[in-house]
Amino acid sequence: MSNVIHIFTGSRVDPKVGVVPRSGECLGCFTHRMVLAGGCSNGLGWAEHYRLVRARRAVTLRRRLTALGARCDCEVIHEIWQPSPVLWTRDPQSGDLAAPSVLPPCEGVRPGSTKPCSWWVSGASLAL
Ligand SMILES: [Zn+2]
Ligand SMILES: [Zn+2]
Repeated sequence: MSNVIHIFTGSRVDPKVGVVPRSGECLGCFTHRMVLAGGCSNGLGWAEHYRLVRARRAVTLRRRLTALGARCDCEVIHEIWQPSPVLWTRDPQSGDLAAPSVLPPCEGVRPGSTKPCSWWVSGASLAL
């Protein structure tokens, strides 16, 4: 009974992880952290949560993310944006590049921003 059941997403999140964006934390890093901790909301629940806590005036956020092709939180961090190529590692056996499972601390964004920090690149621009 110690897990927090998140109201929008229905996800169980360890209270140590928490469901509040860290100070200056960007939408990309927050969503990545939440999907890792609580799983995808099967919608844009985490992105919407970020907006309500950090960027209330970004009322078109959900519409913009949907227009870019994200139907759920994991698509925000795998399709629209992807971790910067500098964070990927190459598997010594297969030679395949592997996305980082845990990101370094967020580089930070200004308050109210829904842009990702410099750890993120546009998914379309990352040609592997
Ligand atoms: Zn998803
Ligand atoms: Zn970030």
